[in-house]
Amino acid sequence: MARVALVTGGTRGIGAAVCKALKAAGYEVAASYAGNDAAAAAFTAETGIPAFKWDVADFAACKAGIAEVTAALGPVEVLVNNAGITRDGMLHKMTPENWHAVIDTNLTSVFNMCRNVIEGMRERSFGRIVNISSINGQKGQMGQTNYSAAKAGEIGFTRALAQEVARKGITVNAICPGYIATEMVLAVPKEVLEKSILPQIPVGRLGEAEEIARCVVFLAADDAGFITGSTLAANGGQYLA
Ligand code: NDP
Repeated sequence: MARVALVTGGTRGIGAAVCKALKAAGYEVAASYAGNDAAAAAFTAETGIPAFKWDVADFAACKAGIAEVTAALGPVEVLVNNAGITRDGMLHKMTPENWHAVIDTNLTSVFNMCRNVIEGMRERSFGRIVNISSINGQKGQMGQTNYSAAKAGEIGFTRALAQEVARKGITVNAICPGYIATEMVLAVPKEVLEKSILPQIPVGRLGEAEEIARCVVFLAADDAGFITGSTLAANGGQYLA
């Protein structure tokens, strides 16, 4: 039987590429999303992968959403925590709303999702959790105290949970993408992209969502059981931790 994989924020950008790659690798895949119904419908029409709408920042909604996915496909064996947002601004101008939105959507969501799948994974003695963090959680980024804190928090969470569940056949890993050509990054003004961002990337280009998807498929595999608590950097050489 195909393993069931759930990808949060799976209808666009990196998440959509991850869904497609997991499906191609033989998984039964579900995607979640927040509110862009048109993008979700187009994604499902293109891929045949069902999309479920809920806010990953809301614990009860995650519980209900995971129950819905489980009823449709079976218990979640591979969880990819990918949903994320940015609300950039220098700290001296950052509002509490923009702090909390980013922490809740990028970091608290990881607790909300993991907490609601972990008991089932423990009972079945198998699980793969992949958290999509960021290069900016490793190095810090000006204008992103909220995002850098959330993404660094994901790495700490990954390392702690990996130790808790290692004996249960569950692995927990983080991937830290550099700049990937998705809507999130292409929203950056062209001049900033060309003059300040690209020169920092030794390979000389943005990454592709499919390149992050390959990392997820690798970590999700049954035979990746010895890799846990790790942080996989995929950043074109931009930051060598
Ligand atoms: P996109 O903005 O392209 O897509 C974001 C996805 O997350 C959408 O499906 C969106 O749903 C969903 N989402 C957002 N908020 C919520 C929420 N509260 N509840 C449920 N789903 C939500 O993002 P990217 O593909 O660029 O980024 C994906 C991940 O990779 C993020 O965690 C990001 O921080 C990380 N990352 C991205 C990098 C990049 O260069 N792009 C670099 C490093 C890390 P909807 O369509 O309904 O809005």
